[in-house]
Amino acid sequence: MTWDIVIGIETHVQLTTKTKIFSGASTEFGLPANENACLVSLAYPGTLPVLNKEAVMKAIKFGLAVDAQIAEYSVFARKNYFYPDLPKGYQISQFELPVVNHGYLEINNEGVNKKIRILRAHLEEDAGKSVHGIMDNKTGIDLNRAGTPLLEIVTEPDMSSAKEAIAYAKKLHNLVQWIGICDGNMQEGSFRCDVNVSVKPSGSDKLGTRREIKNLNSFRYMEQAINYEVNWQIEQIEDGHDIIQSTVLFNPDSGETKAMRSKEEANDYRYFPDPDLLPLKISQRDIDLIRSSLGELPEECFKKLTVDYKLNEADASIIVSDKKTYKFYQSLVASGLDAKITANWIVGNLFAKLNDHELSIDDCPIAQEQFILLIKRIMDQTISNNAGKKIFDLLWEDPNQNVDTLIDTLGLKQVSDLSAILPMIDEIIQNNPEMVEQFKSGKDKAFNALVGQVMKISKGKANPGQVSELLKEKLTKS
Ligand code: ADP
Ligand code: MG
Repeated sequence: MTWDIVIGIETHVQLTTKTKIFSGASTEFGLPANENACLVSLAYPGTLPVLNKEAVMKAIKFGLAVDAQIAEYSVFARKNYFYPDLPKGYQISQFELPVVNHGYLEINNEGVNKKIRILRAHLEEDAGKSVHGIMDNKTGIDLNRAGTPLLEIVTEPDMSSAKEAIAYAKKLHNLVQWIGICDGNMQEGSFRCDVNVSVKPSGSDKLGTRREIKNLNSFRYMEQAINYEVNWQIEQIEDGHDIIQSTVLFNPDSGETKAMRSKEEANDYRYFPDPDLLPLKISQRDIDLIRSSLGELPEECFKKLTVDYKLNEADASIIVSDKKTYKFYQSLVASGLDAKITANWIVGNLFAKLNDHELSIDDCPIAQEQFILLIKRIMDQTISNNAGKKIFDLLWEDPNQNVDTLIDTLGLKQVSDLSAILPMIDEIIQNNPEMVEQFKSGKDKAFNALVGQVMKISKGKANPGQVSELLKEKLTKS
């Protein structure tokens, strides 16, 4: 029996507003406990929520970026449950009428494009946090996070493998940062996914019972959790057991998912419209205003790179994987650098180095002018690509150095001068009669070996393109 995997994802995205969604308290992360716990966060009687316009604008921005409908009329509702980190006894959310409806994100998984439908995105407030392990036998409550604006983004069950789910989550993670609505910091919980997983007999159009893996905040865990969960469900069904709809947690240490509560134990949230908040009305004018400020989206930039600049898709997708890298690339190309050579340098060398040091592009020690100069010197054939790598490493170690000075002091200038190269070629031809014979009998390998020999005696300074041309000329004439 073969099985289809069905996955739908709910993502909680913390919106980057200065203040909370229903009060003027700061949303700053990492402050001492309860520093940002204002009277509204503490749910003092008599306090009233006041909606933060910025949070609404950011929700609209998201809706437009995924080609969704922005509701002219949406409603805040109370989701009732009791938990220590939620002193009001209810979370303000949106239920029947969310602000964003019916959009989509197109993912690319191993070369295949697929549209993942976004059913809805609604605004809500984050809860506080229970803090364990600071006080003996006591749990602390930190309400700094309570009231931080969240956009919960819910997909249709459109993904059919862990890989597709990761592709979606990464794409969404990139997008929310790109449009400036979320800082994307997964360790700090700014972007958390609940992943709903079910399996069904291949081809069947009836969905299986799902289990929801809560609060995944790393792509690696997400992949592990989904794979474990899928295997577990298949095993259960093949052993004759039913899947019970439940909420599960992933344990990164054991790599397993474990049920937290089943559907029967789930809360009945008794949603109803919050009488303290008016319905949210959004004018076409506001929507148009936000649309005009949206700027280029990653999708369009990707097209530009692959179509106009003819980059391959792998390089292009790395360059648009965040806006800063894209802007950096664009400014390099705008300064006159070749689009492909620049892409190779960013993806191949710069990114490799940044990743090795776990740095982001902001932390790159090499100044932009020096990076530009380095690529220019490769483009104008002053130095070889290999010499360029040497200089790149040296600049990384000591960013105060200058590319041209390094080329001079290290004697890396490429020799393109005929009178210098020709004698070397003659020498190599003379000293390697067998290789010359092999080349003449049609062995390309022998030719490469001869080029290599010339490069070697030039100490890597000869221009390989020119060596190859001159050598071929000599060999085919003689
Ligand atoms: P709830 O709010 O109780 O979690 P929803 O109906 O809103 O329930 O669904 C939540 C998520 O579960 C959505 O992303 C949806 O696509 C996904 N989902 C629904 N049914 C299935 C299923 N059978 N298998 C996998 N995912 C599912
Ligand atoms: Mg859910």
